[in-house]
Amino acid sequence: MRVVTVRLARAAAFVAAFACAAGTWAVLEAAEERGEIVSVAKRDFAAARLGRRGLDLVMEKDGRIHLAVSPGEMAALAALQVPYAVETPRLLHEAARALSADGGLNGAYHSSLELETDLRILERDHPGLASVREIGETLEKRKILALKISDNAAADESEPAVLFVGCHHAREWISVEVPLLFGKYLLEHYGLSQEVRDLVDASEIWIVPAANPDGLEYSIHVYRYWRKNRRANADGTFGVDINRNYGLAWGLDDLGSSGRPGSDVYRGTAPFSEPETTAIRDLFAGRESRAMISFHSYSQVILYPWGYTTGAAPAGATLDAIAAAMSGLIEAVRGSVYTYGQASRHLYVTNGDTADWTYGLAGAPSFTIELPPVDIDHGGFFNDQAAISAIFEENLPAMLYLTRYAVDHPLPGRPRVRLPKGRVGSSPVARPKQPGRPAPRPLR
Ligand SMILES: [Zn+2]
Repeated sequence: MRVVTVRLARAAAFVAAFACAAGTWAVLEAAEERGEIVSVAKRDFAAARLGRRGLDLVMEKDGRIHLAVSPGEMAALAALQVPYAVETPRLLHEAARALSADGGLNGAYHSSLELETDLRILERDHPGLASVREIGETLEKRKILALKISDNAAADESEPAVLFVGCHHAREWISVEVPLLFGKYLLEHYGLSQEVRDLVDASEIWIVPAANPDGLEYSIHVYRYWRKNRRANADGTFGVDINRNYGLAWGLDDLGSSGRPGSDVYRGTAPFSEPETTAIRDLFAGRESRAMISFHSYSQVILYPWGYTTGAAPAGATLDAIAAAMSGLIEAVRGSVYTYGQASRHLYVTNGDTADWTYGLAGAPSFTIELPPVDIDHGGFFNDQAAISAIFEENLPAMLYLTRYAVDHPLPGRPRVRLPKGRVGSSPVARPKQPGRPAPRPLR
């Protein structure tokens, strides 16, 4: 219980930030956007069939489902006569207690600035092997930073490249730490491990720990559950889901993304409309990129293309075999089970996501890894900071494996993409309504 309490308290860090760190403007803006954290008894949740309503499930504790709800969603709960409790004040209290022990809003997790500092330190301490590159600039003028690791890192040689990227989604803080620690590990073990030296000498390993630094800052300082970037949309809402903004099957339907700007899976006005996705696009497409992992949380799954359709990808069997190998390597470390499968079948349908696009370019094996915990019962988006290094360590062999695979396997070539005619890239406004409902599972 203690662990759960601490996690919950950390989950509420945004409330403390709300009280002590955010300015008036941010407070007003956040109040408009965030609504409240409310809890509903599990039996009421089931009776009202709330799981079908596409609500933002945050965690479950003591028989109650916690939800992040907008003012409109709160009104809908009331109209449905679902008894709910507003949890925000209690979380504020618990957050204040936890933060006094932690000494910071984000504890051991990195803010954008802390990330830049640590990347620069790695570059300074490992001259020749590490090079920090500014690959883009966000809407709020933050740098999108990549750490390149290779022998002779300052020069761009024609070596196979592998990309490890984190934090497309702001609230998935653990996804920053795992790729960052991988970079640190490679640099610190180059002189110690023949395996690491061989890999680094033969490849370019690109690490972008935070693809969405604006969202990350917003999650730390204003609203812990923020997911998207900070695009000011035309209708007054904020944010594009940058993991729905890539150019393959973008906007294919309203199940795998949304054309409604207020949605947490809003795809943006056009493919690659966002600086975060153009930065990743240009980085990946500008060299011989042979593999990619995009880290997210939570649920302990390894997903491979396609996400946009339940039809199998041309190299589906190969992708499945690589995912199986990575899953086995992860489990061997300390027994954590990461299931694996095709994204659209194993989790939910998406369109415009990172892995579909990187795979679609030239067949580079591309994966989304949803990091721990396994479910909301174990903390949802909120990993205890004490678990960071163990989560990294269990993923390390899989990252090394995929890098080795990339070095050994040339690109297979562009896979065939089968899209329904006349749908892709059409105006979100003009798109006909799709049957069915948004995915009922919490978004990850
Ligand atoms: Zn995510």
